[in-house]
Amino acid sequence: MTTLPGLVGFDEALETFDPVMGLEVHVELDTATKMFCGCPTGFGAEPNTQVCPVCLGLPGALPVVNGAAVQSAIRIGLALNCSIAPWCRFARKNYFYPDMPKNFQTSQYDEPIAYDGFTEVDVDGDVFRVEIERAHMEEDTGKSLHVGGATGRIHGAVHSLLDYNRAGVPLIEIVTKPIEGAGARAAQVARAYVAHLRELLLSLGVSDVRMEQGSMRCDVNLSLRPVGQQTFGTRTETKNVNSLRSVERAIRFEVSRQAGVLGAGAAIVQETRHFHEDTGETTAGRVKTDAEDYRYFPEPDLTPIEATADWVEELRATLPEAPRVRRARLQQAWGASDLEMRDIVGAGALILVEQTVAAGSSPQAARKWWLSELTRRANETGVDVSELAITPADVAGIQAMVDAGRINDKLARGVFDGVLAGEGTPQEVVAARGLEVVSDDAALGAAVDRAIAASPDVADKIRAGKVAAAGALIGAVMKEMRGQADAGRVRELILSRLT
Ligand SMILES: [Zn+2]
Repeated sequence: MTTLPGLVGFDEALETFDPVMGLEVHVELDTATKMFCGCPTGFGAEPNTQVCPVCLGLPGALPVVNGAAVQSAIRIGLALNCSIAPWCRFARKNYFYPDMPKNFQTSQYDEPIAYDGFTEVDVDGDVFRVEIERAHMEEDTGKSLHVGGATGRIHGAVHSLLDYNRAGVPLIEIVTKPIEGAGARAAQVARAYVAHLRELLLSLGVSDVRMEQGSMRCDVNLSLRPVGQQTFGTRTETKNVNSLRSVERAIRFEVSRQAGVLGAGAAIVQETRHFHEDTGETTAGRVKTDAEDYRYFPEPDLTPIEATADWVEELRATLPEAPRVRRARLQQAWGASDLEMRDIVGAGALILVEQTVAAGSSPQAARKWWLSELTRRANETGVDVSELAITPADVAGIQAMVDAGRINDKLARGVFDGVLAGEGTPQEVVAARGLEVVSDDAALGAAVDRAIAASPDVADKIRAGKVAAAGALIGAVMKEMRGQADAGRVRELILSRLT
């Protein structure tokens, strides 16, 4: 992080101030059709090909609630230990924005379908309870593309293009109650909560939860108060923080920034802020007041939703095992230690490791690649490990080649390079880059002879019975063959010549 004037170090800030967080997570449901019409929801279609009079807000078009989306909303509410409203309605949230063709968003206001829940998040082995205020249904907006500016933002743009394919896609917004007591672990708690939510939603099968494609987006509210004070300070809301890593960075930055402002005797402005992935900083957006009035009123074109007790119980019976139960089961199956399991969960790699094991890898190998090699690369490129362009099946395929002796760990790293660079499957990369281990005796034997000729003193030691000295010759052969020699076979050939 660059040091801006007025920033206070994170740890130093938390000696004086106590952070209070609130997280609002928007999740796109992966229903086949939109929230109030029959348009498909697939990602990546040609702009404005998945639209109809309803989601374009044309006069006279009448919406109908998507039953599958309501089921998903209830299941999410139940998985978050919420009460389910026996009766609830949609409301119109009125405001103008070009990517919202109706000039209002159909949302839920004072009657959310799920409310008053909680979830238990693992933070470095401790359980941290996060209270859930509500989970409500709404629809997504379209997308604006600002053309002509350097940054892709509206500032400096010459014109803007609109794509309404996303307008009307079902969303669930999950809102926490103020998260207090996280102290110096605030950034970790926030990250762990979002990672936990992601895992929970994936296990429910209600969303693909791809943060990089925007199907899960997080708004981060943060305020500071002097340690020991009960009343909350003024908060800021950092919008659209779109990776686990960014959630953590946004919290750290806002703590540092707000501590600097408060420490200088100034006041925090209640505003929305933008997070910048490149610098890790937030900048001011628009000033926001609690009195913001969207003129909500009940949506007259939609019938209320009645969730009968029988229906809710039927849906409760479809819930998967709770995340903590699932983790305990996987830990036992994998023979992983508490610390290893904590690392896997902390890296957001639980599902990746699980799927890699399901694709045939040993748990040890799956953990090794995802937590060392791939986590390092994700950190270098500033993305979450789940966003790397490599699948669990690819990782299992690479490990299978290691197990078969076709490549070694060093060559495997080259295969990761190729797959991540989009050069194809692991098999294709091995073929194209010529990464296979050489175990052909003719090629190896010639290299062994050259190594022996180049180091007669080492050869003499081996002849005299110092077999350990063979390591130097193996190293020379490996170097000549750029790491692609079958080390075991090289050793055999050296010893067969000298002993
Ligand atoms: Zn439509």
